[in-house]
Amino acid sequence: MSKPKVVILGGGYAGLMAASRLARQQVADVVLLDQSPYFEQRIRYHQVLAGTSVPRGPLAHWLRPAGVSFAHRAVTAIEPEKRRLLTTAGPIDYDFLVVTTGSRIDSSSIPGAPEHSHSLNSQNQCQTLAPSIQQLAQTGGRLLLVGGGLTQLETATELANRHPSLHITLLSSHNPFKNFAPKAEQYFRNHLQQARITLLEDHRALEVQQGVCRTSQGALPFDLCLCAPGFKASPIVNRITDQLDEHGRAKVSDTLQLIGDDRIWIAGDSAAFPWQGPSPLRMGCAVALPMGAQAGENVAAMIKGNDPTPFSFGFLIRCVSLGRKAGVVQTTQGDDKAKKRVFTGAAGAWIKERVCRMTFNIPRWELATGLRLYRWPSVPAIHQDIQRSVIDSAEG
Ligand SMILES: Cc1cc2nc3c(=O)[nH]c(=O)nc-3n(C[C@H](O)[C@H](O)[C@H](O)COP(=O)(O)OP(=O)(O)OC[C@H]3O[C@@H](n4cnc5c(N)ncnc54)[C@H](O)[C@@H]3O)c2cc1C
Repeated sequence: MSKPKVVILGGGYAGLMAASRLARQQVADVVLLDQSPYFEQRIRYHQVLAGTSVPRGPLAHWLRPAGVSFAHRAVTAIEPEKRRLLTTAGPIDYDFLVVTTGSRIDSSSIPGAPEHSHSLNSQNQCQTLAPSIQQLAQTGGRLLLVGGGLTQLETATELANRHPSLHITLLSSHNPFKNFAPKAEQYFRNHLQQARITLLEDHRALEVQQGVCRTSQGALPFDLCLCAPGFKASPIVNRITDQLDEHGRAKVSDTLQLIGDDRIWIAGDSAAFPWQGPSPLRMGCAVALPMGAQAGENVAAMIKGNDPTPFSFGFLIRCVSLGRKAGVVQTTQGDDKAKKRVFTGAAGAWIKERVCRMTFNIPRWELATGLRLYRWPSVPAIHQDIQRSVIDSAEG
């Protein structure tokens, strides 16, 4: 009897973990599709921009030992009623579909930003832009980073570390450290000062024009502008549902199945998971890896006639690199609320680097060995933290 066909759409952190967990059970013919032939380490894009060479994972080569086929193509539409994908190289049918198409930095909420600024959305793009940044540094040019999230913080500090002569300004509509413990906040502020990065808080970008950004507090001229006001889920999920959250993520059940179609599973940055914490589950490879693994396990369970397992996850730490020599590791409750303990400086950088290496090696090693090497903290261990936060926020 032929096995059911499972198509995994997207070879990022979530897609590779789904492929690994599904393939090891040998219950399906698994095909993974991606528009790129490589697994890219998105979490190191700022390093690429700073001129560092960052390895990529050749998808066909990584997937082969696990018996997963790779198809290099972009998906242009999904037709759930026909269980079919339309791709740049023709249609592909499926019995089960796992959507792990991730997200992109979306600057379209700021008028003029897509035309007059750059966003870090692919390794090639970062590589292409790197010489311009270097040239700018040689002339002591002005670099403006719009957006006060962790991506921009890592980018600003990485570039200051590599190119100390750049004049870097980081623009944020809020306090970028508000979700960190006081010790971490103090460390971040001191580090930015030492790195001569100007942080402008309570500045909302209203419009980006050629060479100038209009903000709620006045105009800021720049030579080059990088915008990262937030992530938006890859638009392909629009094709399968109109039940999306504010980040364009498709709403899923607690077992990661698309609401209304239990043959479609969604994991990683594309999934709006019914998280019990005080704020929506943030997008990150820290979440994409376990979600992808759970989606793969659940598809295999369904094929075997077993019940899928609800996804259960809790945070432990939040890691931020500040160039290559410093970092901040904030310990957290399961619901991502900051605890008191913080690792800073070289210790923070060391931990962050190990975490980054782990995110590259774990999918590769699992696919190569067929072993379940990756484990993640689940909710029972953090249940009380989450309950406490929900009560705290309900009580204001
Ligand atoms: C500079 C930077 C630093 C970051 N640092 C951190 C960090 O420190 N910690 C953390 O947890 N997160 C971090 N993130 C976020 C993290 O990279 C993402 O949350 C993570 O990559 C999401 O994983 P994913 O598997 O859902 O999707 P992705 O990694 O985005 O992979 C999606 C895949 O789907 C493919 N795809 C998309 N659409 C199509 C299509 N139509 N057809 C075919 N293929 C398609 C893409 O080519 C890609 O390979 C950072 C992001 C950036 C940009």
